[in-house]
Amino acid sequence: MKKTTKNIFLGIDILLFIFVLGNDSHAAKTSHAKTAPGKAAVKVTEIKHVSNPNYTRVIIYLSGQTAFTHRLLKEDPKIQKPRRLYVDIKNASISSSLKQPIPINDGLLKMARAGQYNKGTVRVVLDIESIENYKIFYFDEPFRIIVDVIGKKQAGKLPPTEPAKAAPPEPARPSLAQQLGLKIKRIVVDAGHGGKDSGAVGKAGLKEKDVVLRIAKGLKETLAKETGAEIVMTRDDDTFIPLEERTAIANTKEADIFISVHANASFNRKAGGVETYFLNLTNDAVAIRLAARENAVSSKKMSDLQYILNDLIKTSKTNESSRLAAVVQESLVSNLRAKYSDVKGNGVKGAPFYVLVGTHMPSILVEVSFISNPKEEARLADSAYIKEIVAGITNGVNRYVKEMEVAVE
Ligand SMILES: [Zn+2]
Repeated sequence: MKKTTKNIFLGIDILLFIFVLGNDSHAAKTSHAKTAPGKAAVKVTEIKHVSNPNYTRVIIYLSGQTAFTHRLLKEDPKIQKPRRLYVDIKNASISSSLKQPIPINDGLLKMARAGQYNKGTVRVVLDIESIENYKIFYFDEPFRIIVDVIGKKQAGKLPPTEPAKAAPPEPARPSLAQQLGLKIKRIVVDAGHGGKDSGAVGKAGLKEKDVVLRIAKGLKETLAKETGAEIVMTRDDDTFIPLEERTAIANTKEADIFISVHANASFNRKAGGVETYFLNLTNDAVAIRLAARENAVSSKKMSDLQYILNDLIKTSKTNESSRLAAVVQESLVSNLRAKYSDVKGNGVKGAPFYVLVGTHMPSILVEVSFISNPKEEARLADSAYIKEIVAGITNGVNRYVKEMEVAVE
């Protein structure tokens, strides 16, 4: 218990440290995106936000890559200006289609607005109500600047969520973990791809987006039954959802675990097996290629991503995520092998996946098998195999939950 408390405080210290770094003197650090000389100005096309009273993600979409800086300004009562955070986007202009100002009013931010600050610079201003911490980074293809804002924990003020219907009755005497509020209450299951994004497609035509949705739907049922947690899906039909919005769903729902489900692909049709990832930097060329494909970016953009991730990984739950990845991987492989003895376990790896960047909870991405391998594609099309994948992941998550509860008792 003492150790847990210490770790929590250590975590806050690190967050505050990053916050200070992110403020002024190191502003240029997050704005290293290169601009080709003489390139036409990019347009700010859209500003979106996803929020709850503890967390807001603002996404600024641009028509191309460019440099940016940011700064936090103190409240200025003389000119009746609140505390605000601005992002200066170089070599940019505002698209006529940009709808703004954008009212947010979630307790953290009041609104977002964009203006042509000078000939070459667009300034996006976030008017602050009350924030504790923020992070700014960017993703590519399309280029978008992401601002994650975190508030003071407003526990109790959040609207109550309905418990999962299939949840077993609570034990008569709550465990210490439950008393401490450490019980896993909510799990977000993310079926990769969807809509216009098919993901990988097998030789026989099986689409990754369809397979992973089937698995996610299975997980929704079994995870609710086994863990008693509420299961939230980022999509439950054939819809396209940008990667950064999936992460934002997990954060705004205040999920305790985030699982992104994918099927692997390789030019080598013989490549096969199961692997589970957590967010980390890597030198492994195969893992980088896979992350590039799942991020829908070219491999050459991945070195930029590894650079921006350096700071973000320090504040991510790397240890818990790698432990969750290990139990899920072990459980998934052993469960599949009981019926399909030749299934290969390729282990747990770290790689920079967009969908895992900025999550507040232990988060993993499972590559359940290779859709590019004809034998595995045929299995992925078979509901018996899907059922074993679902059972394997569920057992792993359940074991992780139980171990975590024992650890604090
Ligand atoms: Zn995928």
